[in-house]
Amino acid sequence: MDSAKLYNLLFDAAPDAIIVINTDGKIILCNDQITSLFGYGKEELNGESIEILIPDRLAARHKGHREAYHYKPIVREMGALKELSAKRKDGTEFFVEVSLSPIRYDEEVLTAAAIRDVSEKIKVNRRLKDSLAMIEAKNNELEQFTYIASHDLQEPLRTIVGIVDLLSKGNNSKLTSTELKSLDYLVKVTGRMSELIKGLLDYGRIGHNHEKTTVDCQELLEEVRHDLSSSICKYAATLEVGELPTVFGYKIEMRLLFQNLISNALKFHRADVPPTITIAAVEKETCWEFSVADNGIGISEEHQERIFRIFQRLHSRAEFEGTGIGLAHCRKIVELHGGKMWLHSKTNQGSTFYFTIPKP
Ligand code: ADP
Repeated sequence: MDSAKLYNLLFDAAPDAIIVINTDGKIILCNDQITSLFGYGKEELNGESIEILIPDRLAARHKGHREAYHYKPIVREMGALKELSAKRKDGTEFFVEVSLSPIRYDEEVLTAAAIRDVSEKIKVNRRLKDSLAMIEAKNNELEQFTYIASHDLQEPLRTIVGIVDLLSKGNNSKLTSTELKSLDYLVKVTGRMSELIKGLLDYGRIGHNHEKTTVDCQELLEEVRHDLSSSICKYAATLEVGELPTVFGYKIEMRLLFQNLISNALKFHRADVPPTITIAAVEKETCWEFSVADNGIGISEEHQERIFRIFQRLHSRAEFEGTGIGLAHCRKIVELHGGKMWLHSKTNQGSTFYFTIPKP
């Protein structure tokens, strides 16, 4: 086999345009792809300065980079992190990624550059970035709206709650039983409306005006255990807390996260089965993975995504009290930290909620 011939064929078959330049920056060899990428014939470029392929406004800077590379020739990639422009024969520009490799040839160090057109990739990336920025802006707008709406609704609601309270505590001896029932209903629904609006307000406030600090989760769990002690006692629950790490996060929010998950684990217990709740953390390469497991009523697979949405509940209030905000809060808190939240659960076999908190 004629290996020189094979090398030549291989050189021209490479998917990237390949150019070899000497120490003066003069092109001494190109492969076939150079024509489709830059519009020049292979022979046309021989002896030309490499800057012929660089937009005029960047040529001087490129010459500086090239000379610096000559003193420290290593294998390196360019354009992977920033946008790199190249110029075709007809003057039009496009984006490229370039890999450089030094080649020792006799006494000289030549440089081989493999060049790839990444214009499409960059266009898609830009579109993606624009879409992300737009989604973020819309999200902020929506959060602002929720916050302002719930804040402004609080004021008239407070007046209504006050009047309803006055009416229910006044002399109601002349009211019929239907009127009394209606009044009682009014007290309940205004109370519930206050709870929902407060939940919305709290949702909007998550992470606002707070600073990240080191959070000792072991200590935090002891505080939460203390806060929930009356429910723990009432349900004869067992709370098993494993070894938990110190993380870098929003302390108030982290506390709310554990509190919501443990309150739910207590609340959604099976009748006549005292709740056992296990809290643990496993160290992963880039994050801590926490779990809160219970032996409660469980959640069927079809509802497992829905329960993270605001105001979504699976039970009537007669069965279990609640507003349907707790898990929406939890997911927002986890995402605020850059983590993920999910669960494993089967009806009547308990649930395990998982979340990750990235390491700093
Ligand atoms: P709330 O507890 O106020 O209803 P959440 O947002 O905390 O609101 O929970 C939404 C729904 O998810 C609950 O109504 C319940 O149906 C279900 N759920 C949450 N945690 C558990 C759990 N540990 N076990 C069983 N079901 C749960």
